[in-house]
Amino acid sequence: MPRFVVQKHWARTLHYDFRLEMEGRLVSWAVPKGPSRDPRIRRLAVRMPDHPLDYAVFEGTIPRGEYGAGTVMIWDTGTYEPLRPAGVSPEQWLDRGFLKFILSGTKLHGLWEMVRYRAGELSKESWLWVKLRDRFSRPGYDPESEPLSALSGKTVVEIRGEGPPPVVAFHERPLEVWSRPCAEDPFEESEEPGSLGTRLLH
Ligand code: MN
Repeated sequence: MPRFVVQKHWARTLHYDFRLEMEGRLVSWAVPKGPSRDPRIRRLAVRMPDHPLDYAVFEGTIPRGEYGAGTVMIWDTGTYEPLRPAGVSPEQWLDRGFLKFILSGTKLHGLWEMVRYRAGELSKESWLWVKLRDRFSRPGYDPESEPLSALSGKTVVEIRGEGPPPVVAFHERPLEVWSRPCAEDPFEESEEPGSLGTRLLH
């Protein structure tokens, strides 16, 4: 089964990044409010550049001035089962703008759906991410109620305290799309000193 990861990202604005492994890369969306297990809630997910596969295991702090600067937590990870119609390639599936899949993670499980409602270039292509009703749906669910890393069990303060990341190669072996002149998130830039620390207190 291909992997999925939800990274919680304390960048200029706190947000979550949802990534699905597809054809050797991570198809990515920035989700300002994070996933909701409440089937009545539709979360905005803005398509972002694909990321290299090794980014799926990255947790740490990306230095100021670098792409994706801020602290990254692996909020959830696991595998997913694409419910792709027979004869449809992953690429076609994505192009159609309607994804249905089963997540098997630490926090997120069961049936989910993503629907593209506005096409456009990256960072303008908008999707809705919805939990479908099943035994894993939870009315009133708030992702902030589960603050720990699914990878390490650490809090963001503990991750932040570890300082700059070890030399991970993801910045050094980019995909082609990685070099497009598009910030990872429209709401994300390098941190100013102090502001991240302040946010981490909350
Ligand atoms: Mn991000």
